[in-house]
Amino acid sequence: MKQIVELILKPNFVADIANGYPLILKEAAEPIDGTLEEGTILKIVRPNRKYIATGYYGKQNKGIGWILTNNPKEEIEEVFFAEKFKNAFKKRERFYESTDTTAFRVFNGEGDGIGGLTIDYYDGFYLASFYSEGIYAFRKTIFSALKEIVNFRGIYEKKRFDTNGQYVEQDDYVEGEVGEFPIIIRENGMNFAVNLNDGAMTGIFLDQKNVRLALRERFSEGKTVLNTFSYTGAFSVAAALGGAYETTSVDLAKRSLPLTIEQFSVNGIDYEQQQIKVMNVFDYFSYAARHQLKFDVVVLDPPSFARTKKMTFSTAKDYPKLIGEAIDITASNGVIIASTNNASFNMKKFKTFIDKAFKEKNKRYKIVEQYSLPEDFVTLEDYPEFNYLKVCIIQLLK
Ligand code: SAH
Repeated sequence: MKQIVELILKPNFVADIANGYPLILKEAAEPIDGTLEEGTILKIVRPNRKYIATGYYGKQNKGIGWILTNNPKEEIEEVFFAEKFKNAFKKRERFYESTDTTAFRVFNGEGDGIGGLTIDYYDGFYLASFYSEGIYAFRKTIFSALKEIVNFRGIYEKKRFDTNGQYVEQDDYVEGEVGEFPIIIRENGMNFAVNLNDGAMTGIFLDQKNVRLALRERFSEGKTVLNTFSYTGAFSVAAALGGAYETTSVDLAKRSLPLTIEQFSVNGIDYEQQQIKVMNVFDYFSYAARHQLKFDVVVLDPPSFARTKKMTFSTAKDYPKLIGEAIDITASNGVIIASTNNASFNMKKFKTFIDKAFKEKNKRYKIVEQYSLPEDFVTLEDYPEFNYLKVCIIQLLK
């Protein structure tokens, strides 16, 4: 039996939680006793000790835990998780049926009722990501509920709860078939090589699926495409399959070169006809400007925060500058695809970054398409702040 501890909310935070806000903010209650174990069930009460909700204690960025239910009788045991999973899988039925797309998110944290836990499906393999020690404390129950409900080839996990949601290095295999990685998954008919047991990332960011499709279908034919912060080159693959004249992928991580070659190859694209540069994007911008290179399409998909020996980059501070650099090397009438997964600002703010950059360059533009998380990344309608992805497709105007 898990211990249950009462957490008395400060008056200002009662209404939000009572109305369904899922995150227990650090400042919502008096500091929790340092000896309390993460994973402890919290009975969340009003200052007068009346029940509001049940949650769990788990430290993650701004929060100290997540709400799980507002039913005082509901116990947080296997049936609880099984029910949540069932509902979530039901919502993804049509994804399971597709042969065109064989990787997608099946459980999206608070959007599916359990903050701090996501589960992705990769062609028969399930990958569970745990975002705090607290949710990891339920690991056994979670996997046993999962196994009750789905047939699987294998299960893998990521612990993402080192300080600030960093990945904890480990062997990520849990049970079932040991994957022979890379496995090839499909997304809207494109192939992607995926490795579930090689660090924090798998080779593909599933949340960009609609953007990859848009790039392939509407912005690539006959175009030159620069893909910055390209990682395994997934956007370059989409562009090449969409008929791009040439793609250029830029990423400073050495591993990006073999991984990008692999992504092209599993799609039958001759990587020697494409450019792959292992270098700092900002150095590449200078190089391109010096050589007066212009691209029809420039993709910007930086990490929220990055530090190299020479510099630090933060999307919240430096995005306008990044767009400015991109404008300089985008052909007139070209397109910039600007993306960020930084949850600390919203789409409105993101658009002010775009506007600022274009004003500074004295250029006109039009946002022709915009994207947030795709349908399988279920989010709470009332709380758009958890829908972290923001992508604008921007057309430069003469
Ligand atoms: N756009 C990619 C995902 C990007 S992940 C996709 O669609 O799959 C972020 C990538 O940025 C990482 O691969 C990291 O190596 C790279 N990166 C971070 N800082 C960089 C810099 N200054 N220059 C080039 N690449 C950088």
